[in-house]
Amino acid sequence: MKTDQNYLDLDKQLLWHPYTSMSNPSPHFLVEKASGCEITLSNGRTLIDGMSSWWSVIHGYNHPTINSAIQEQLSQFSHVMFGGLTHKPAIDLAEKLIAITPTDLQRVFFSDSGSVSVEVALKMAIQYWNTQGKPSKQFFVTPKSGYHGDTFAAMSVCDPENGMHNLFAAALTQQYFISPPPTGLDTAIKSEYLDEIRKMFEENHQCIAGFIIEPVVQNAGGMRFYNPEYLNQIRALCDEFDILLIFDEIATGFGRTGKLFATDHTNICPDIMCVGKALTGGYMTLAATLTNDKVALGISHEGGVFMHGPTFMGNPLACSAANASLALLDEYNIPEKITQLENWMKAALIRCEELEQVKEVRCLGGIGVVELHHPINLHDIQPKFVELGVWIRPFGKLIYLMPPYIISEEQIQALGKAIYQVTNTLPH
Ligand code: PMP
Repeated sequence: MKTDQNYLDLDKQLLWHPYTSMSNPSPHFLVEKASGCEITLSNGRTLIDGMSSWWSVIHGYNHPTINSAIQEQLSQFSHVMFGGLTHKPAIDLAEKLIAITPTDLQRVFFSDSGSVSVEVALKMAIQYWNTQGKPSKQFFVTPKSGYHGDTFAAMSVCDPENGMHNLFAAALTQQYFISPPPTGLDTAIKSEYLDEIRKMFEENHQCIAGFIIEPVVQNAGGMRFYNPEYLNQIRALCDEFDILLIFDEIATGFGRTGKLFATDHTNICPDIMCVGKALTGGYMTLAATLTNDKVALGISHEGGVFMHGPTFMGNPLACSAANASLALLDEYNIPEKITQLENWMKAALIRCEELEQVKEVRCLGGIGVVELHHPINLHDIQPKFVELGVWIRPFGKLIYLMPPYIISEEQIQALGKAIYQVTNTLPH
């Protein structure tokens, strides 16, 4: 029988983890079980989860409602191909998604992951313009500091200065980049920013199929919050220049920003919207690309078909998990619950502002960010958090919290205390 150490040694030898080296991997911790907001390691240590496993496990781990939804579906069938066959879990989920997302979004394409849903969105836009007799509209405009996934087309619309872009520059489609939206949720709209977009559209609209952006929060690109009014203005510019507007709600969807979707902070609707991550309550991998009738029927014009069809499209287990997760979300009062979480995080993190290492503390909905002056060495810092009984995984200059929505005030306080303690040990 293998010991825990045998497993960890094998892990180090055989497995790649996200963004890690094979010859000098960062430490990994063996998980035995997880329940509610706690992850228990094989050595018995219990960690309070501040990450929702990359922002997906919104109802906590091992939730009885989602467990039994999956078990029930498992007793019927775990998967069937989606070509030629269909099933109730997918139909129920599509109906529900259409009901809760902005009104114009009426058609749903299921795929396996957030990155793939972005690929699908970009393909939809290109195919749409093709059927409209504008085949030169093949490219996308996107703000810098954005992140849309790790597959090739998704990478092409990620921030052009990050590591991935540098490595793959020659292999990536060259897209059109504009400045990131000015930060600050309530800061006054800068007309120069909108002028920059207008100029880009004026010069290149014949080549531009769509504008893709993470609404209200640029997440992995720096946890940057910006004024939703920019999105209203961008919608108007897209309409003026015949450009489709694509919202990537993969990180922001399902309540994270305090509204069900970040789009709900605006008074507009995108043409295409991607959701993933928390869609299944973080249980299984599933994403969806929603679009309006204009795009969907446009693509289907004169017998056109949309050219995408993954093997595990609409996986019934994942759809059942998503249906259960959305039913749980219905039971919360999202604005109230997430505002409470925001207030708890503000109270727990604000003390960090007194540390010299800290540049800024900011919170929005279920996102709490402590931005430092200098990048963090993850190898060093991760074990310190584990020692303190919390699961927090910083990146770049950011130590942040995106906890499950069911977390308690005491658990948030413990996370805040650990962040303060660890930050205080960092060089400044
Ligand atoms: N878009 C955004 C905004 C994301 O935050 C992420 C993942 N962090 C993705 C796309 C990619 O999703 P996935 O990792 O499921 O492919």
